[in-house]
Amino acid sequence: MIPPCTLQKLTPRVCWLTPDERTDRPSLGAIIGAKGTLIIEAGASPAHTSHFLDALAAEHVPTPRYAVLTHWHWDHSFGAAALAGIPLFAHRKTARQLAIQANYAWDDESLDQRVANGLEIAFCRDMIKAELSNRDDLRIIMPDVLFDDWLTVDLGDLTCEIHHVGGDHSSDSSIVYVPQERIVFLGDCHYLNIHHEPRYYTPECIFPLVERLLGCDADSYVEGHSPDVLPRADLITFDRDLHAAHDAVVENQSNRAAALRQLQPNYQDMAEVDWLVDAFIAGLARQQEKGSS
Ligand SMILES: [Zn+2]
Repeated sequence: MIPPCTLQKLTPRVCWLTPDERTDRPSLGAIIGAKGTLIIEAGASPAHTSHFLDALAAEHVPTPRYAVLTHWHWDHSFGAAALAGIPLFAHRKTARQLAIQANYAWDDESLDQRVANGLEIAFCRDMIKAELSNRDDLRIIMPDVLFDDWLTVDLGDLTCEIHHVGGDHSSDSSIVYVPQERIVFLGDCHYLNIHHEPRYYTPECIFPLVERLLGCDADSYVEGHSPDVLPRADLITFDRDLHAAHDAVVENQSNRAAALRQLQPNYQDMAEVDWLVDAFIAGLARQQEKGSS
């Protein structure tokens, strides 16, 4: 396995810094075109982002010219102060959420209070404290360029298509698709919603999302928090598992044991699918709650 926070080349024109689960640092990306470099994500802290910029400079990558956020979550955005002078692109909803974060106090007591009030989750609080132990000077930077559905960045010989895709994880999620390199940076778009327990997938969000990801003519998908790049074949398998788990949950009226019994003949390792059963049971219950409220 590749060590955390290591600069890797996916192609001569696409680099990424691998994630680090110890403080939830996500993957960071760099698309290197003739006209300049586009940075994907602003990082979890200025230290995280500076480490990435230094690693790119050591490889003589041209100075970053633009940067884009995939969504507002702290681990993808709180390092933006290290990108001073580089225009930052983001979806309009991402900017709205960052404005809320920028109005918060970030001392330990305020963070703990927000967890108690249900405005923050304990996992993010603990990771923020670990990654940003001194938050006296924390500056949450607002994006410079906002988009609604999509934005194309022309890097000369490469184009980067930024598409808003939404999803259960965060409704502002956007992806960065580089057609010439057949690569997509996913951010966290296809992950579970983490701000509610139990964590969930809703069929109305996850199915169209994965279909859209497969609609990109790409071979490789870089995930926000996986040290391995996701090959297209694995995304197809994920799509199949999602549908199988969803159908089993619906056909068995959200009875977990019965759904798992139905799936068992098709899976040697039930760990591949049992978490999806739980995610759809939670997602369907949530949809019903919303429908009846
Ligand atoms: Zn996230």
